[in-house]
Amino acid sequence: MNGQLQEDLSSLEKIFQLISRQGSDYLKNIGERPASTIIEPAAPAHMPYEGIGTIETLRKFNDRWEPAMVAASGPRYWGFVTGGTTPASIAGDWLTTIYDQNTQSAKGDGDISAAIELETVGLLRELLELPDAFLGGFVTGATMSNFTCLAVARQWLGQQLGNDIAKEGITQKMNILTATPHSSSIKSLALLGMGSSNILQVKTMEGNREAIDLHDLEAQIRQLNGAPFILISSAGTVNTVDFDDFSAIAALRKQYHFWWHIDAAFGGFAILSDTHKQLLKDWEQADSITVDCHKWLNVPYENAVFFVKEQHRMLQVTTFQNSNAPYLGDPLEHFNYLNLLPENSRRLKALPVWFTLHAYGRRGYRHIVENNIRQAQNFGAFIRSRPELSLLAPVRLNTVCFSFSAPSDDAKKVTSFLAALNKTGKIFMSPTHYKGQPGIRAAFVNFRTTEKDVELVQELMGSLL
Ligand SMILES: *Cc1c(COP(=O)(O)O)cnc(C)c1O
Repeated sequence: MNGQLQEDLSSLEKIFQLISRQGSDYLKNIGERPASTIIEPAAPAHMPYEGIGTIETLRKFNDRWEPAMVAASGPRYWGFVTGGTTPASIAGDWLTTIYDQNTQSAKGDGDISAAIELETVGLLRELLELPDAFLGGFVTGATMSNFTCLAVARQWLGQQLGNDIAKEGITQKMNILTATPHSSSIKSLALLGMGSSNILQVKTMEGNREAIDLHDLEAQIRQLNGAPFILISSAGTVNTVDFDDFSAIAALRKQYHFWWHIDAAFGGFAILSDTHKQLLKDWEQADSITVDCHKWLNVPYENAVFFVKEQHRMLQVTTFQNSNAPYLGDPLEHFNYLNLLPENSRRLKALPVWFTLHAYGRRGYRHIVENNIRQAQNFGAFIRSRPELSLLAPVRLNTVCFSFSAPSDDAKKVTSFLAALNKTGKIFMSPTHYKGQPGIRAAFVNFRTTEKDVELVQELMGSLL
């Protein structure tokens, strides 16, 4: 064994102590660390011939890169939809690395870590009030979850048209209906060869809504003359967190033939709020659902689940089977995640989720969701109270989408205000466009955020306006 490796192995305890101290210092002071930094990266390093060992390498990292780490899991990182990292999820994540299982099987073909994954999927189903009829699994993010669900949808659509797409490729036109899909669904359609321009755009409801217009949806379905299609619906659009009417879609399903996918990346957690859970009524009737864990569940990147109805297991296996590896056995007889999702080798992403769900329970998560909803409402009220600013849409759940009030104010003003705000390092929000207007988004999905943080940002904004 290489000498450096040998030395590192014998000083593992020291290494862990250093990392653990650095980690807890970071997390303890995350509220003080800049939420947004503008640090120029140093010139790229060269590949060393002789290694320096872990402790020296840690020094090097602390010199070169550590100051550039932003408080992305801190209380005032409101850009995109970025969750935090609960202590339990960090513990689970560290142990995932240490145990380094290759999660595939639940029945002892090498390891049984898929049993942990199946158990965790079960916990999530209970948390989200979804029935056992959904088979779930872990992927890197909602993008890959949408990809996985839409890949099975594609196989289903092919089957309806007499085309085994996994074997033959796409031979016929694919009909996809949607109103306000997340960009990652469009990317998935492109990756899956279904073609992002094959989307049949359905209108959104009138009155500043992003939800699907049901009359237009039905009119477009009729025009398809009975041809099967995929419907991509939204449980929480990114700009204004609008939800499609799932009860109405479920009713349409009794008359028409389609695969129903719901992107509930963060909106699925609305189920934990008594005041907002009705937004998800009847969502369990969908064929497939995307839920992100590294957003509102507050676990480290990369973590999301897909849920696909068990009744489609054969289609899912046809789509993802790793069939040219005979040692893996019959994919329908031997449960193995590599026949059910894109990756073959995977780390045990379920473990951080398993830890955090046990550590904080339904009550803990309910609390996080309710706090974030209240913070979004308070921040929305602040925007309404300032004559210079306006909401671009009502605060429907946990996101505030706003801009300057005067219609003559152009994109430059939004950009420079946002840049000045982010440059303080106290807050990070991200730019957006909503119905052709430049705006700013603040998304509340972090367990650390408090009313004090909201007040601090309001004061800061007041001083810059
Ligand atoms: C964030 C998000 C995605 C993409 O998720 P990643 O985790 O970034 O891959 C997809 N859909 C919705 C609604 C999202 O909010």
